Amino acid sequence: MDKIALMHPSFDVDACMAEIKECLDTGWTGPGFKTTQLEDEWKKYTGLKNAYFVNSCTASLNLTFDIFKEVYNWNDEDEVITTPFTFVSSNHSILLAGLKPVFADIDASFCLDPKDVERKITDKTRAVLFVGLCGNPGHYDEILKICRKNGLKLVVDAAHMAGTKVNGLFPCFEADSVNFSFHIFKTLPTADSGMLCFKDADLEKIARVKAWSGIDTNAYSDYALADHKTYKWHYDVPYVSNCYNGNSIMAAIGIAQLKCLDSDNDIRRRICRKYDEAFSKYPDKITLTELADNVESARCYYQIVVKDRDGLAKYLSENGINSGVHYIINTNYRMYRYAKGLCRNAEYISEHILTLPLYLKMTDEEVDRVIKYVINYVTGDAK
Ligand SMILES: *Cc1c(COP(=O)(O)O)cnc(C)c1O
Repeated sequence: MDKIALMHPSFDVDACMAEIKECLDTGWTGPGFKTTQLEDEWKKYTGLKNAYFVNSCTASLNLTFDIFKEVYNWNDEDEVITTPFTFVSSNHSILLAGLKPVFADIDASFCLDPKDVERKITDKTRAVLFVGLCGNPGHYDEILKICRKNGLKLVVDAAHMAGTKVNGLFPCFEADSVNFSFHIFKTLPTADSGMLCFKDADLEKIARVKAWSGIDTNAYSDYALADHKTYKWHYDVPYVSNCYNGNSIMAAIGIAQLKCLDSDNDIRRRICRKYDEAFSKYPDKITLTELADNVESARCYYQIVVKDRDGLAKYLSENGINSGVHYIINTNYRMYRYAKGLCRNAEYISEHILTLPLYLKMTDEEVDRVIKYVINYVTGDAK
């Protein structure tokens, strides 16, 4: 029997190739051109007002905290309340800006627990970083209210949320910065890229300068003028900054993939519903993510919580099924260890959560096989 992968990205190859060919035919693979087109299409798709295409979600988050700190005059060591249960780049972006991650616990949605967020607010708190884990908006609405009540900025790490909808709409319009990932293992795969969506259009202007080494010019408009007399080498360099901009080849893949994002996510949701139906019969053995009824989650990953996670992972592997862990609690890592032991729920989940196979080409037989082996193991029939 074929082995079952944990993830297996698939692309609309013909559509991707046609978009990429346009870049090569035109002679422009850099920022501008296709990136502008994807930004416009992304705004239309999500309903967000601003969108800037960057080379990763990490870049997007780094720009967000860097710009917020500068524009809002935050001090070094000012605090950002965040989840320890995420991919490390979420929290690195806070540290890299010279700010301090203050960890709040997660709740049954595996996203930030609003009650614990409120408890962690001090007079140094400036922002909350909310991660929509696996596409789940969790208790985002309550977090938004807490931020507004306390004058805090709200940053959303929406790396898993491309395609998530609540009552038919993307849920995070009011956030001050929403950061998407179009990494290969996310729901809108390119190779590496992301989208930075500020609420305030003026901040996007700063991001566009900061994202190209702090240079205040636009390579594509220079190129598009193409009379070679107007090349603007007399640009200003107002910032010391990194190279974060996205390119037209990645945007070309993004444009092609965006067309099937909703139908791809429908397939993911159908597989997850099958998992849910099977596993919900064993509530004392398998805990599922709490997901509200009005949420259409992008379902970036499918996770279960079980007593003996490591044993289950080993058993699945012995039977040709790959699994994974998203994520190990960040306070296990050197730079966040100062907060170890403070988030009990996240600590427990980190030790007991398992990500199961989920990808578009998964067959019904493969889904059934995963279900069978998981249930065998947790009910003890495997021993
Ligand atoms: C993947 C991921 C990121 C980083 O995205 P890149 O586009 O790879 O930089 C950030 N946060 C979360 C939660 C992620 O899963």
